[in-house]
Amino acid sequence: MTRQHYDAIVLGLGGVGSAAVLHAARRNLRVLGLEQYTPAHSRGSSHGHTRVIRKAYFEHPDYVPLLIDAYQQWSVLEEETDTRLFEQVGILQIGHPEGDVCHGVLESAREHGLPIDVLQPVDFRKQFPAVHIADHEIAVLEPQAGFLYIERAVRTQLDQAMDRGAVLQFEEPVREWRMTTNQGVSVTTDRATYVADRLIVAAGPWAERLLPPLAGHLQVLRKHLHWFACSNRHLDLNRFPVFFFETLDGEFYGFPCLDDRGLKVAEHTGGAKIERPEEDPIQVEPADLSRVEAFLSERFPGTAFRHSDHVTCFYTVTPDRHFVVDRHPQHPQVSFAAGLSGHGYKFAPSLGRALVDLAMDGQTELPIDFLHLGRLSGH
Ligand SMILES: Cc1cc2nc3c(=O)[nH]c(=O)nc-3n(C[C@H](O)[C@H](O)[C@H](O)COP(=O)(O)OP(=O)(O)OC[C@H]3O[C@@H](n4cnc5c(N)ncnc54)[C@H](O)[C@@H]3O)c2cc1C
Repeated sequence: MTRQHYDAIVLGLGGVGSAAVLHAARRNLRVLGLEQYTPAHSRGSSHGHTRVIRKAYFEHPDYVPLLIDAYQQWSVLEEETDTRLFEQVGILQIGHPEGDVCHGVLESAREHGLPIDVLQPVDFRKQFPAVHIADHEIAVLEPQAGFLYIERAVRTQLDQAMDRGAVLQFEEPVREWRMTTNQGVSVTTDRATYVADRLIVAAGPWAERLLPPLAGHLQVLRKHLHWFACSNRHLDLNRFPVFFFETLDGEFYGFPCLDDRGLKVAEHTGGAKIERPEEDPIQVEPADLSRVEAFLSERFPGTAFRHSDHVTCFYTVTPDRHFVVDRHPQHPQVSFAAGLSGHGYKFAPSLGRALVDLAMDGQTELPIDFLHLGRLSGH
């Protein structure tokens, strides 16, 4: 057994952990990142080509300042590395005007002065003839929104962290961590035990196993992403935005056609609860596929689609569907982000920064108080 000493260890190198190692390296910390799989693998929550990024946040206006920070950090990373990570194609959000989504978007936009276009059905049909909107619905278009290329972003963050001196080790699962007698942390894998002053846990669907205070607060849900090839060029990148529908049958969202696989579409609601993500089969569930196909035929009625690809991915959800970003209640040397509830990727650079600052300094300038752990047990 070898023992090496670091300022901080980051456990898990998905979207958030890769951002954390980069932020730690930017702070000139001696940082070790440990990941059980390969870089930008497809067994966790940060794969599937693209993720939505938007600012007028229907989930809660308190996320908007974090999003402003995240937008800025994604842009810095793009400039530093000359890599395209973000496509600003806008997002169409469609639903009942009093529903959670459109109402929430407008509330966040109003509170934070964000630009939004509200389209009534008659105008919407002229602008987006391929899409069906019901008479009782409205569409809100957020032009600053778009999507991120997610595996590319994870790799870019990891490469940048390594260039700045971070030590990153893959295919090395962490078996346990514990406090040392001198208030440090030791982390044990099959290969070695590592010692650090601080630990940052960004373990996605595996968070509850590594963080006992989260026990009983998280559920891991299996989610499916589907691609559908089509010949409707109006749905191509730069002609069609990201879309999110709140319907009476559930919430469905998707991305314009980026390649031969076509439109990417998924259901945001639902999802089967699972216990062991590492053993979960990657296969189409016919009931899920039929719901997505029914959505497509209702909302894109004139376009013929052919199912062309599929992946599964995991949401790790809290009871209130808001993230938990905090320090460990018994061990303040340990910070963690968990329960990102199917909407966390866009925040990765901000969460990575907050986690490093919390672990190293005990505080962060980022406004994350509303995401504290205590709320889950009523404190
Ligand atoms: C289908 C789907 C669609 C989504 N859509 C959006 C969207 O449009 N916009 C958005 O913002 N968000 C979206 N999300 C949510 C977002 O993708 C996640 O919140 C985010 O990717 C979580 O990142 P993470 O780093 O916390 O988790 P992960 O990416 O799962 O990373 C955790 C890492 O920790 C590693 N790990 C765990 N345990 C150990 C261990 N013991 N030892 C070593 N390594 C370990 C894992 O292998 C993994 O690599 C979506 C999620 C899914 C599944």
